[in-house]
Amino acid sequence: MVHMLVFMGSLLLAFGSTILFADACKKKLTEIGIPSVYSKGMIFFYSIITAGALYGVWYGITEGYSFGSFMLALFFSLITGLGISLGLHRHDTHRSFKAHSVILFVLSVGAWMGGMRKATWVSNHELHHAKEDTAHDPHTPYLFNKDGDWWGFVYSHIGWMLVPRPYLETLKKTDTSKIPFIQTEQYLFLPCLILGFIIPAALFGWEGLWISFLRMFYVLHITFSINSAGHLFGVRLQGKSLSRNGTWIGALFTMIGERYHANHHADQRCAFLGWRWFDVDAGKWLLIALGKLGLVWEVKYPKHIPPSHDNFPLAA
Ligand SMILES: [Zn+2]
Ligand SMILES: [Zn+2]
Repeated sequence: MVHMLVFMGSLLLAFGSTILFADACKKKLTEIGIPSVYSKGMIFFYSIITAGALYGVWYGITEGYSFGSFMLALFFSLITGLGISLGLHRHDTHRSFKAHSVILFVLSVGAWMGGMRKATWVSNHELHHAKEDTAHDPHTPYLFNKDGDWWGFVYSHIGWMLVPRPYLETLKKTDTSKIPFIQTEQYLFLPCLILGFIIPAALFGWEGLWISFLRMFYVLHITFSINSAGHLFGVRLQGKSLSRNGTWIGALFTMIGERYHANHHADQRCAFLGWRWFDVDAGKWLLIALGKLGLVWEVKYPKHIPPSHDNFPLAA
């Protein structure tokens, strides 16, 4: 009975807060004369994930999660995080390296499990780089205030997806037909997304399901924070864009390398986000390892630091 009440409360809180927040974002955009629409699909998707994560916290407190289900959720966090960072970001958008089709397929599955659609992701991200931190950047935190503010933070974090600006579509120039496995996405996106929940549930029962909602909520917000915190907090590169090298953007993306967002804006085609050999960037290390195996090649090195044996073992 208590579980059911908490479950219903989680649904109510998640849907209620998301709808109210989307409405507030829309009003804020209207105030500054920017037309926007509600994305009902995103509002529904985000509300469901949030409701599941809220209930997942309750389940963890009352029933607890086993070591096995925690490790599987951590593994799926890595797969989905690398699918987004190495697959969608460094390969599909910036063409920072070439890879065997098996590697590209695995990265695609990771991104789909993480709830990301390729054409939408890549075209939004290309526009982000083309119009960086101007009014036409889909998720700039400086839309309402040139110095950044709380509204800019929440809008760049998630508001831009819940209430997108339709006129931005006309600015997108991405040739989506060139994205690997774009044709198969319509068949595999939903099955991969659902498998990310079904596999843990089949192995660990209810705890596998609820921890998967927590895993999804965590990776989504870490990804969102690249657009919000990655442009607001941390260290800027001198004379470069408004993007920052974060002091801390979540454990997962700190490890994967996306915390070095200022490096990335300074040298977009570079496959490595942490340029120095000791910068923590699991994406870089995976590329180096796959390069040794001959599964990855034509890796783009940083322009600013010449490749050397010390900095980049792959170049040796
Ligand atoms: Zn980028
Ligand atoms: Zn950025």
